[in-house]
Amino acid sequence: MSPELEDLYQQVLLDHSKRPRNFGALTDGAVHVHGDNPSCGDEIDLHVRFGPARAVEDIKFTGQGCAICMASASMMTTKLKGRPRAETTALAEAFHALVTGQEAAPNHALGDLQLMEGVRKFPQRVKCAMLAWRAFEQALNLHESGAPPVSTEAVG
Ligand code: ZN
Repeated sequence: MSPELEDLYQQVLLDHSKRPRNFGALTDGAVHVHGDNPSCGDEIDLHVRFGPARAVEDIKFTGQGCAICMASASMMTTKLKGRPRAETTALAEAFHALVTGQEAAPNHALGDLQLMEGVRKFPQRVKCAMLAWRAFEQALNLHESGAPPVSTEAVG
C-alpha cells in the first residue's frame, strides 16, 4: 500500500470506528445475529430486515470491538443497505476474497471497503474484519431457511 493509501485507510478506519453508521437495533421483523470473535474480544449484534426478494431493506448493528471490526461493520451496513440479494451476496464474497488475498483484481464495487485489504497480512485481523460479514451471511441463511422473523443465532 502506498503511503497515501495508508493515510486514507487510517482516516477511514478511524472515522467509521468512532462514528459508526447505522448503529442501533431493529426490532420490527428483523433477523438478529450475534457475532463473537473471542480471539480479539469483538462482539456485534446485527439486525437485518429483508424486503421483497430478500433485498436488504434496513440494517443496523450494535456492539463493541477493535477499530477494524467496528469500521468493517459500519462500512458493511452502508454498502449493503437497499441492495438486492444478488448484489449483497456478491459483495460478501468479494470482501472475503479481498481480506484473505484471493481476489485477482481490484473490485471497485467494494468502494471504501477496498482500503481494508491490508488486513490480509494479519490472519488474526481477518477475523475482526469478517465478523460482521459472517453475521450477515448467517442472517441471510436464517431468513432463507424460514426462521421466525426475529431470531438469534451466534456466529464466531
Ligand atoms: Zn478485533
